[in-house]
Amino acid sequence: MSIAESISNYSLELGEVQLIAVSKTKPESVIMEAYHAGQRHFGENKVQELTAKYEALPKDIQWHMIGTIQTNKLKYIAPFVHLVHGVDRKKVLVELNKQANKCSRTIQCLLQVHIAREDTKFGLSELELRALVSELDQFPNVDVVGLMGMATNTKDSNVINDEFNYLKNLFDELGSARNWHTLSMGMSGDYKIAVENGSTHVRIGSAIFGARKE
Ligand SMILES: *Cc1c(COP(=O)(O)O)cnc(C)c1O
Repeated sequence: MSIAESISNYSLELGEVQLIAVSKTKPESVIMEAYHAGQRHFGENKVQELTAKYEALPKDIQWHMIGTIQTNKLKYIAPFVHLVHGVDRKKVLVELNKQANKCSRTIQCLLQVHIAREDTKFGLSELELRALVSELDQFPNVDVVGLMGMATNTKDSNVINDEFNYLKNLFDELGSARNWHTLSMGMSGDYKIAVENGSTHVRIGSAIFGARKE
């Protein structure tokens, strides 16, 4: 299937759910194939690659930073990034607030919650999440609009379902009073289960663009 066909199939299937096409490691020509099929939201996980692609590609692309964040690099993406998904500690909010202020903007972000069984996946524990949520007033140039999570890499759909359901419950409980509107969960292998559990944004890479080398 071509990239254009794949984009249009996902758009039909997902309806209101936002597709973020994860283009990390893929060349600009490939991103442009998706762009010409109407795709505008793209996800990258490395600051340098994200910044280079932002500079080279059409300015109506909405760039999502989905990777682990090194605070010293936030300044490079602060002027243009659409949504920062992986905020997993207070230090990131401090630096994001500072850089957003320098650019005279408010940057939208998501708090990443550790929902997987593997301890290799990043994110806040539920306790850390609750503590951080109570401190958000300290960051006027950061707008936390929801949560992000990655499920365990397993074929057991019950495990994945439980993890996404857990995140959705936290999202509803903490977000209803705060007008949260974005729940970023689901990748190529598990987006269907994520959508069943109320995901609003899915991050799909290899199923659109093919396998990555690394
Ligand atoms: C790479 C990546 C994705 C996309 O993964 P695929 O399995 O290729 O769809 C989604 N989310 C994050 C955080 C990623 O790093």
